[in-house]
Amino acid sequence: MTRKGNPATLDVDRARRETPGCANVVHLNNAGAALPPAVVTDAVVDHLRLEARMGGYEAAAAAVASVNNVYDAIARLIGSRPHEIAVVENATRAWDMAFYAMRFGPGDRILTARAEYASNVIAFLQTAARTGARIEVVDDDEHGQFSVDDLRRRLDDDVKLVAVTHVPTQSGLVNPAAEIGRLTRAAGVPFLLDACQSIGQLPIDVAEIGCDVLSATGRKYLRGPRGTGFLYVSDRLIDQLDPPFLDLHAATWTDHDRYELRPDARRFESWETNYATKIGLGVAVDYALRWGIESIEDRVTTLATYLRRRLAELPGVVVQDRGKRLCGIVSFTVDGIPAAEIQAHLARAQINTSTSTVTSARYDLAARGLSAIVRASVHYYNTEDEIDLLCAALSRLPNGRPR
Ligand SMILES: *Cc1c(COP(=O)(O)O)cnc(C)c1O
Repeated sequence: MTRKGNPATLDVDRARRETPGCANVVHLNNAGAALPPAVVTDAVVDHLRLEARMGGYEAAAAAVASVNNVYDAIARLIGSRPHEIAVVENATRAWDMAFYAMRFGPGDRILTARAEYASNVIAFLQTAARTGARIEVVDDDEHGQFSVDDLRRRLDDDVKLVAVTHVPTQSGLVNPAAEIGRLTRAAGVPFLLDACQSIGQLPIDVAEIGCDVLSATGRKYLRGPRGTGFLYVSDRLIDQLDPPFLDLHAATWTDHDRYELRPDARRFESWETNYATKIGLGVAVDYALRWGIESIEDRVTTLATYLRRRLAELPGVVVQDRGKRLCGIVSFTVDGIPAAEIQAHLARAQINTSTSTVTSARYDLAARGLSAIVRASVHYYNTEDEIDLLCAALSRLPNGRPR
């Protein structure tokens, strides 16, 4: 990614003041769901109250500018055009709508990554069983990231899709999306990028990456409401994608036995939707853009580097992140103590973390002989003091190491 000059230093005190949850918890589960800023929660609640006061349809009409703002905000965030965006209820639905809109036949190949998310792989497996398409997992390189050289070797006319997770749920890895995009564009193969964990913590420009489709969620690094997600579909590909289900918003019933699909990405939406959270997502994106994604990445990377260094000093703790470029997700194990026990121990100290088990990323974790990892994911509003609290709590683990 090209950086637009030096990122401004982020005012962490202000970020914390604007985030009510910071007063209650040490929140290191930002890859699960980040704490929302008050402006997001207020926008959602205000709209629910407006609906209660004047009626849901009437509230949507009254708030039409805030509703439509979400498309403009996301377009600014990822460098697309607003009509290339569909707003849906989560990243999985976004990804599925695009994936199941593609046609595969016997012998077609789908190339994916070791880091791939379970839900995506489950969809590949179902599609392979139905159509005879084949799934191939591209190797990792010596750094533990997606091997662009292996992709180059595998790309040929039978490859109908390259689908890659940018940042996996289970580690700090950042896959080389733009290098993948250069190859897929040259080969004329659609590139579907799962940007669920990278959106909001890393700069993303769809033109620079060269992906044709991108899926993302609202509640993770974007700090939006739960139950929100979006899909970007490039104008290059939209005409080739026939959504797996349609309604009177995605299409128009034009004649007795005819309908016409919407020409834009909103063919992947449905008519009924949660307007309050849709407005909230737009507010969250605008809020992130005001901080600046480069500044956010800078702060998140600094904190994650500090956390990895502190963890590595603790006896028995093994940082499990691999890759040339790392982000705000820090994965680790502790010798002799199951990940779930560590998470529970930390929760008792009001420190929120998460775990990933082999069933959420089998191509990756199983290959590394890991059944589960603990995930501590930092955001820009976290502090070095909070990281020190995490490490202090780890050094007090009741059994096993460290002591
Ligand atoms: C969380 C996650 C998803 C799923 O997002 P939802 O909004 O929960 O549907 C997909 N891919 C990756 C890499 C994720 O971490």
